[in-house]
Amino acid sequence: MDVKSPYLHPEYETLSREEISKLQTERLRETFEHCKNVPFYAKKFKEMNLSVEDINSPEDVRKLPFTTKQDLRDTYPFGLAAVPLSECVRLHSSSGTTGNPTVILHTQRDLDEWANQVARNLWMVGLRPDDVFQNSSGYGMFTGGLGFQYGAERLGMLTVPAAAGNSLRQIKFIKDFGTTAIHAIPSYLTRLYEVMQEQGVDPRKDTKLKVFAIGAEPHSEEQRKRIENMFGVKAYNSFGMSEMCGPGVGFECKEQNGLHFWEDYYIVEIVDPDTLEPVPDGEIGELVLTSIRREAMPLIRYRTRDLTRVLGRTCPCGRNHVRLDRMKGRSDDMIVLRGVNIFPIQIEKILMKFPELGSNYLITLSTEDNNDQMTVEVEVNEGTDDFAKLQSLEKEIRHQLGDEILLKPIVRLVSKGSLPVSEGKAVRVVDKRKVYQ
Ligand code: AMP
Ligand code: ZN
Repeated sequence: MDVKSPYLHPEYETLSREEISKLQTERLRETFEHCKNVPFYAKKFKEMNLSVEDINSPEDVRKLPFTTKQDLRDTYPFGLAAVPLSECVRLHSSSGTTGNPTVILHTQRDLDEWANQVARNLWMVGLRPDDVFQNSSGYGMFTGGLGFQYGAERLGMLTVPAAAGNSLRQIKFIKDFGTTAIHAIPSYLTRLYEVMQEQGVDPRKDTKLKVFAIGAEPHSEEQRKRIENMFGVKAYNSFGMSEMCGPGVGFECKEQNGLHFWEDYYIVEIVDPDTLEPVPDGEIGELVLTSIRREAMPLIRYRTRDLTRVLGRTCPCGRNHVRLDRMKGRSDDMIVLRGVNIFPIQIEKILMKFPELGSNYLITLSTEDNNDQMTVEVEVNEGTDDFAKLQSLEKEIRHQLGDEILLKPIVRLVSKGSLPVSEGKAVRVVDKRKVYQ
């Protein structure tokens, strides 16, 4: 196996299942003790009468309490810190953010380990210090920016913080700097390809591109293949979430047979979202992660709400870290569009501010010309039929939604009674992107 990087502790990558289990038990015990510094966990451990002696295997994680996104919101901003703030050096927040963002803290060691994780992934798919890595993802609070930046630098690559958007400049960088690898959200790469075509740039002939890391948003196997065929470049699925650090949590190896989730950093459980009991390997359930190597803000049994399944615990590549299927959906109503997390309730909150609007609305997610987009249809109350007024109303709604959810959807005002009325629980979101396949 090709893991002889001097930087990346390759010995952890090739652990046997037995060794993984031993290391996880050790790290879970450490994490348990460390979490006693967090009043939220200390109280729960006491109520549940738990002590470190209860932890003798990774499976004993099931004795511990769950943590939810709501817990992060309730303790906002620093309530789940396990070290004094003076020991923290970075703060990120979950993408999408308005209202109640979730804040994640990092110590210097957390950042170092995170960079190692990302570097491990990039090495795994064949990148080396002589590669040129262009990070075409959003920077700022979104972890895909700095996460990949530090990871690619850790590997020793020349790293270009191109950030998102501005395709003409991206293409210029790719050509001028000899970019061999790009990290971007998948929906952006299809857009980039269109602009290359408009510019007469053939990625196979005119660039040195060979590897893409694509992630931060759901995408289907078909979408991956389409991207690979457009550019003639291998595209590897990258899973991350800010609560666990950011990108680097799970990544595909060259076999492209599911995401290796790094079990020296996380204990992975797949549970039934209703009963919260474990489901057998191969069955779809909710991904629950415990971070066992984090200082600033370790999270125990964090309910990610992402739905997936275990594909295997061995791999022809020689790594025995659990392989999970690409994400199959969410067990809550969160929408991930162009890498941004959006809850329908954020949209509803804005719509309901307008007295001209009724309370029936429908959010449709679709792919038009390779671009993922959102259309918000909402019924107007009777009596609002002045065309000019409707037009300016549409514009104002779009503007306010843009402020709230960080991207501007198409807004369509429709007459009362024209949207489907569902029996029972209202269907507010129709996803035609076919991203979860
Ligand atoms: P954030 O914490 O803002 O980075 O968002 C994390 C969420 O983005 C995850 O819980 C997933 O729902 C989604 N996500 C990230 N990477 C992927 C991926 N490779 N495939 C599908 N969904 C993803
Ligand atoms: Zn593998």
